[in-house]
Amino acid sequence: AQRLFDPLRQFAEKFTAIQAGFTAVERVSDIMNEPIEIRDPEKSHKGTSITPTTPGEIRFEHVWFAYKQDDYVLKDLDFTIRPGEKVALVGPTGAGKSSIIRLLSRLYEPTNGRILLDGVDIRQLPQAELRRRMAIILQDGFLFAGDVKSNITLGETYTFDQIRSAAEATNVASLIERLPQGYNTMLRERGTNLSGGQKQLLAFARAAIRDPQILVLDEATANLDVGTESLIQEALERLLEDRSAIIIAHRLSTIRNVDRILVLKRGQLVESGSHEELLSQGGLYASLYQLQMLES
Ligand code: ADP
Repeated sequence: AQRLFDPLRQFAEKFTAIQAGFTAVERVSDIMNEPIEIRDPEKSHKGTSITPTTPGEIRFEHVWFAYKQDDYVLKDLDFTIRPGEKVALVGPTGAGKSSIIRLLSRLYEPTNGRILLDGVDIRQLPQAELRRRMAIILQDGFLFAGDVKSNITLGETYTFDQIRSAAEATNVASLIERLPQGYNTMLRERGTNLSGGQKQLLAFARAAIRDPQILVLDEATANLDVGTESLIQEALERLLEDRSAIIIAHRLSTIRNVDRILVLKRGQLVESGSHEELLSQGGLYASLYQLQMLES
């Protein structure tokens, strides 16, 4: 029972292990920013215009996924996230939450089934367009050795005003302005000279400047200093406004505020509903939630 119920709490530790796996890939190809191994199709979908201010629809259509042949970690996932809807993924460790994010970011492709963005299979979308439409924020932010500015722009062209408004919108501007060289301050690799909360805010700014339709977020669990906790909550609410979102939610406050919670167990969708609905059903979500309440 302990194994089943520990996820929301021990996720932080576990995620470090996942990240170790992620890092090798991301060091060279920070998920949203450099080409990944999956290449663009010869004939990319051309009909879709970029409408970054309109929230996007995500559909998982009977998605099956296995890392190793026939060892399915996602089984027939079928759900739609409506434009503007905020959905939390919840479930025990190993249930498949991170795998869903990896498929969305096209680190891997479904073994069977499709993932559609506004009705278009994401395999048909050029990488550049996918990156514009969807921002993925992983735990720890993945900052690199470079100045603050380029950690926000990732080398793409933005005006200083755009950079500053992204930083302001995500509550990180005043922090940046207090650094020795402001936006030109050099950060160490993985941002080790910043606190966990500060890294999270910078990662938010990196997403905000792209004005994506869809936000995919693995909410940070660890090292959130009391000082940044409320800044993060507020920045997140602003970032989510007018966007669709999938969140691996670790905080009770986030889980309560989403429109819908999808509960996963061993790669299958076992419950779906609002916080209140799921609590009153008294199923897996209710047990996970009650356990987390006891522990916090
Ligand atoms: P969660 O994020 O809900 O904890 P994951 O998506 O990380 O779950 O894992 C789902 C299943 O896939 C687990 O059984 C895990 O052991 C397995 N898994 C995760 N990553 C890999 C990988 N790179 N290779 C093989 N199996 C993996």
